Amino acid sequence: MLIELPCGILHDGLVYDKVNVKELTGKQQNYLVDMDLVANNLGHVTKLLEDLTSDYQTSEGLPLNMTSKEAIWKLPTEDIEFILLKIRELTFGAVMALPVSCPWCGHQQTKKLELDKLSVTPLPDKKIRTRIIELPKSKLTAEVKLLYIKDLFDLYKILKENTHALYTGSLCLSISKLGEKTNVTQQDLDSLPATDLQLMEDAFSTLRGSIDTNIIHDCENCHKEFNAPLPVMDPSFFVRSLTPSI
Ligand SMILES: [Zn+2]
Repeated sequence: MLIELPCGILHDGLVYDKVNVKELTGKQQNYLVDMDLVANNLGHVTKLLEDLTSDYQTSEGLPLNMTSKEAIWKLPTEDIEFILLKIRELTFGAVMALPVSCPWCGHQQTKKLELDKLSVTPLPDKKIRTRIIELPKSKLTAEVKLLYIKDLFDLYKILKENTHALYTGSLCLSISKLGEKTNVTQQDLDSLPATDLQLMEDAFSTLRGSIDTNIIHDCENCHKEFNAPLPVMDPSFFVRSLTPSI
């Protein structure tokens, strides 16, 4: 199925935001249960994207001269989430049964979700992938960028290994330049004033597109509202048992 991506691949000045997505076959289901691939990284995500996307093209149908294996590294993370949602939808249908647990009363329940109804916000301008801002307190210039699959791997690593530097560790992934420095690390941000960091965060959130995968539910027991993210990067997202039987 040919779909339109919320961001697309920017290559030589052109935006390639159409891609053909296919459903899961047995080959990819092997990836999802391959513990070496899944356990310490997001290896299954790159494999699914490599196998199940093809024919990247502009909205006018001009093909991207790149294999899927090369192209996926140029996909912003919003596109990756969107493609994973479409793979699930094509394979098992748009309706999904999501098991969630209420943080207020602990009640386990199953919520019905329609994947094709999730709100998707495309990039405000698909040709703009970076933004330059001035940081008033530190007097530095920062270049903020979108996140790509490599950043996703780094983020996953930070979440697992370096829980003492979650804030600056994840924020530095979206900074491509700080002053004259291009390889921006968590240590570069550690000494910056909090309001300068907030400005970079704000610039990043206005630059990017989004998919509303943080779903709000009503607890069927205590009737309070709670948020539960849809785990699109998790192998369990592609399990058929999450499909309602009715
Ligand atoms: Zn509850």
